[in-house]
Amino acid sequence: MEPEVYIDGCLYPKSKAKISVYDHGLLYGDGIFEGIRVYSGRIFRFKEHIDRLYESAKAIRLRIPLSREELEQAVVDTVKANGMKDAYIRLVVTRGAGDLGIDPKKCSVGSVIIIVDKIKLYDEKLYQQGIAIITASTRRISPDMISQRVKSLNYLNSITAKMEADLAGVPESLMLNADGYVCECSADNIFIVRHGELLTPSPEFPILLGITRAVVMGIAAKKGLSVRELPLTLCDVYVADECFLTGTGAELIPVISVDGREIGNGKPGPVAGMLLEEFRTLRNSEGASLFD
Ligand code: PMP
Repeated sequence: MEPEVYIDGCLYPKSKAKISVYDHGLLYGDGIFEGIRVYSGRIFRFKEHIDRLYESAKAIRLRIPLSREELEQAVVDTVKANGMKDAYIRLVVTRGAGDLGIDPKKCSVGSVIIIVDKIKLYDEKLYQQGIAIITASTRRISPDMISQRVKSLNYLNSITAKMEADLAGVPESLMLNADGYVCECSADNIFIVRHGELLTPSPEFPILLGITRAVVMGIAAKKGLSVRELPLTLCDVYVADECFLTGTGAELIPVISVDGREIGNGKPGPVAGMLLEEFRTLRNSEGASLFD
């Protein structure tokens, strides 16, 4: 059965779900989005994703044409209409249809799109074996150009880095800022473990403030690990005891080599293993199921 896609108040089968070619989301990447997971019928960290969406909208003066409550209800209804207890939600808000100039005033009303479908970024065996990554030559766009905290529809910076990973035969690439500090991967945040501490780049490097990142930091702190946000160099990553990535799609995936350097002993480490297990337990039990 085809997924049912919500567009501006109506549901359409995937093959009939269409938007205007004059939409500024398509013409200019002028819009924002969230990727959200549903586990066992529960929308994971729903509030945090909706908060981030409204913050992205505010930062670029994009008016979401639904109140928070209406938007949340639309997401819940679309998940229910698709009857999927384990799913990935792509929530998109574009500036809407305008004319062929960039002027956002010409777009009278934004469009809301909600897609509920399956996602599988990595095979289960990679969560046990870990992945190799490389450093991309593409640097992160600096926050004085456009803030990394705006989860905008323009992902070309990440896509170019992902292309570099593909060309190198690995699934992800690490991105640095213009000064050479470690930021994050093309679609995931990065953590290292060093002398028993969990370390991750601080927000200003710049990074997307990942929701999975925050969840994992919370779990680690509860488990008594020291968690620090700080400037990280590539050398810090190369000599780390462990490394792993976090994201809504990837969840938590161990990294066993970076630019051909083995991380630790070249196998997923115990801290990543423990955090992945705790993360999986949490995401299957937090909150109430929409289907009960
Ligand atoms: N960084 C980037 C660039 C991302 O696109 C994402 C989302 N895929 C993340 C980090 C992880 O964020 P989250 O945990 O909120 O999915």
